[in-house]
Amino acid sequence: MTIKVQNVNKKYRSGEVDIHALREATLEVPDHEIVTILGPSGSGKSTLLNVIGGIDQFDTGRIEVAGSYLETLKSSQLTEFRRNNIGFIFQQYNLIPTLTVKENVEVGKELSSQPLDMEDILQKVGMEDKENKFPYQLSGGEQQRVAIARALIKNPKYLLCDEPTGALDEETGKKILSLLKYVNSIYGTTVLIITHNQGIGDMANRVIRMKSGEITDSFINEHPIEPE
Ligand code: ADP
Ligand code: ADP
Repeated sequence: MTIKVQNVNKKYRSGEVDIHALREATLEVPDHEIVTILGPSGSGKSTLLNVIGGIDQFDTGRIEVAGSYLETLKSSQLTEFRRNNIGFIFQQYNLIPTLTVKENVEVGKELSSQPLDMEDILQKVGMEDKENKFPYQLSGGEQQRVAIARALIKNPKYLLCDEPTGALDEETGKKILSLLKYVNSIYGTTVLIITHNQGIGDMANRVIRMKSGEITDSFINEHPIEPE
């Protein structure tokens, strides 16, 4: 199964003007790839990720993800689609501050019909010794690991990451990328990563470039480098 985005358009109305966030966006991503989405601020990267993940609606075109045609789904069906298929990672980790590491991951588990094992996931992301800590007791890199665990415990086919290293220093960012690469290798999760960082592009199987709402380039990286 693949992600297929065909001639997708999306406009935002801003006062008197239409902002064309996606223009005839067309893209195919085979399963199990790591894809980076590069492009200047405002070029439509987040909008693309959000329509693929079923968070945002789009105006015209077709999007097929995991066998579902998203333009045909009602709101309740989109919720079900996300629950079964999609994990999101954001720049700001969006952990619940009053919950411990384990309880934050539990939130993801409760959202899932077929969750993975809690202890195994915490170990995979390297947070098994800190399961009873609260977010404020963790570094940024550790908080992002917890956010990744919360997304992963649902066992999603697709992990959609919007600037996952944007709030981290370079060294910590590299460790998070290594973790995403590891997740891809052990679970076969397809990973889409929005980034400003060319270095991240170098480790992907596929690189997509966007400009003014258009996908201007999509090419396979024959020799992805290993992070670190
Ligand atoms: P990127 O992720 O590349 O920075 P976005 O997808 O966030 O780009 O935004 C694409 C365009 O759509 C930008 O011009 C942005 O200002 C506009 N946009 C995004 N979200 C909204 C919104 N909710 N309302 C109005 N305009 C928006
Ligand atoms: P990472 O493994 O994410 O790179 P660091 O090397 O930045 O983590 O942090 C090492 C340790 O220092 C962490 O285990 C964490 O407990 C502590 N630490 C780092 N930053 C903070 C912070 N802002 N607040 C509290 N503790 C922190």
